Amino acid sequence: MNNNTSQIYLISNRQCGECTVCCKVLSINSKEFVKLPNNTCSNLKTNGGCAIYQTRPTVCQNWFCAWRNLPELDENWRPDKSGVLVEFTEENFPPPFSGRVGFRFTILDKKKLKNNNKLAKFLIKQINNGVPCLLTFGLEKNTEPATAFLNFALNNAIKTNDINNILHELNKAIEACEKMPKIKVAIENGQLIYEN
Ligand code: SF4
Ligand code: SF4
Repeated sequence: MNNNTSQIYLISNRQCGECTVCCKVLSINSKEFVKLPNNTCSNLKTNGGCAIYQTRPTVCQNWFCAWRNLPELDENWRPDKSGVLVEFTEENFPPPFSGRVGFRFTILDKKKLKNNNKLAKFLIKQINNGVPCLLTFGLEKNTEPATAFLNFALNNAIKTNDINNILHELNKAIEACEKMPKIKVAIENGQLIYEN
């Protein structure tokens, strides 16, 4: 979870509801607050909601997933329902994608992926528009999830415009993530440290 300005564009009548995905899955490494990946925040109440809502860290105040911002993503895209957390992301993308804002798709439930035609269609649109897209997978506690860059991996499948081909390639990207070396994360001196 990084500071961003996605709250400026929030959809006015859309709320998180029962979703608590970001407070469980994401890591936070800001000066005022740290949280390990795939580790439920100690401030998350058992029935949902933040126990320190009024004074929650700035990073939490400013961060929202893309579902809270994009009308194009309908109600079924809420991360706890869809099994996919969509975020805006600025990364060190390879050329010709350097400097562009992209999307990160964190797969929370790979069983739901096989029927997620909406995700496949959204990816066709983004990749055809040259938007960099990342798939992230890995739900082990205190472990950094692995990431695959989709624009190259899906290139041929996107050309076929075949949803099943795209979903097949997404599953291969998940398998590739599963084979990547695990990076454990710990907290040291109030900061996250990554152990190879
Ligand atoms: S993942 Fe999105 S919908 Fe879910 S709690 Fe976080 S901001 Fe709200
Ligand atoms: S401090 Fe509150 S808003 Fe921030 S991650 Fe924890 S529970 Fe969620």
